[in-house]
Amino acid sequence: MALITCTECNAQVSDQARACPQCGATKFKPRPPKPKTNWKLIAVLSFLGIIAVGIMFNQQNEQRAAAETAKTPEQRAKEAKAKSEELQQQTLTANAVKILKTSMKDPTAFTLTSAYGGANGAGCITYRAKNSFGATFPGSAVALKSDKILIEEKDRNRFVDAWNIACANGGPDFKVIVDLVLRE
Ligand SMILES: [Zn+2]
Repeated sequence: MALITCTECNAQVSDQARACPQCGATKFKPRPPKPKTNWKLIAVLSFLGIIAVGIMFNQQNEQRAAAETAKTPEQRAKEAKAKSEELQQQTLTANAVKILKTSMKDPTAFTLTSAYGGANGAGCITYRAKNSFGATFPGSAVALKSDKILIEEKDRNRFVDAWNIACANGGPDFKVIVDLVLRE
């Protein structure tokens, strides 16, 4: 059963009723037609939406390309230098970790906890290893640009000074790459 509206008193009346139960009128307003879903309009709007998103992406890419070409040779050189310095730092850190691992009583028990690039091109390393009694201990080391490795256990104060200068503020993470080098 649906409801329709009485033309006289605006009461909601069953569409089965012959007369309005409120006022007895027999005329009713026609039911408003159900709004039809305009699939055509939706299709056109969706299509336009897809095109708009495509244009936006394209513009972003063009802007990025423009920013890249707008770089001065000095900027490019600076970026390339920073990249190669980070690569050098990565290599320095990986080599130091290799040396540390082989210098351990039990190299197979050596696990890298963290490795990252510090200040002044240094590599910052933390690890776990086993001592001569077979007990696991945590260790840290700083690989300096001069190829010197300062180890917490051995170098004590010199290690602490170097760590505070180079490693206290964190830096680019090298752990994944150094783990890969260790597995070679
Ligand atoms: Zn009525």
